[in-house]
Amino acid sequence: MANKGGWLRYRCRMCSEEYGVVHVPDIGSAVSAVIFNHPNPWPLGMPLPKIIEWHFHKDDKSRGVADFIGGVVDDEDGK
Ligand SMILES: [Zn+2]
Repeated sequence: MANKGGWLRYRCRMCSEEYGVVHVPDIGSAVSAVIFNHPNPWPLGMPLPKIIEWHFHKDDKSRGVADFIGGVVDDEDGK
């Protein structure tokens, strides 16, 4: 089975926004790397995303905490 690329997605606990953080060439390895601390499958120099991160809100300067919710595979046309 070919590796599927896609976006690692997070959801903010404070504002509920969902957003993609980084595009990876192999979503399976990438999700394992984040949740199980498996070796970083990314090209050299790319930082390993965390299982949580902060989410900055421009309007009121508050910072939410965003949870890693998974990896979304690209559509067949590569979008
Ligand atoms: Zn937020």
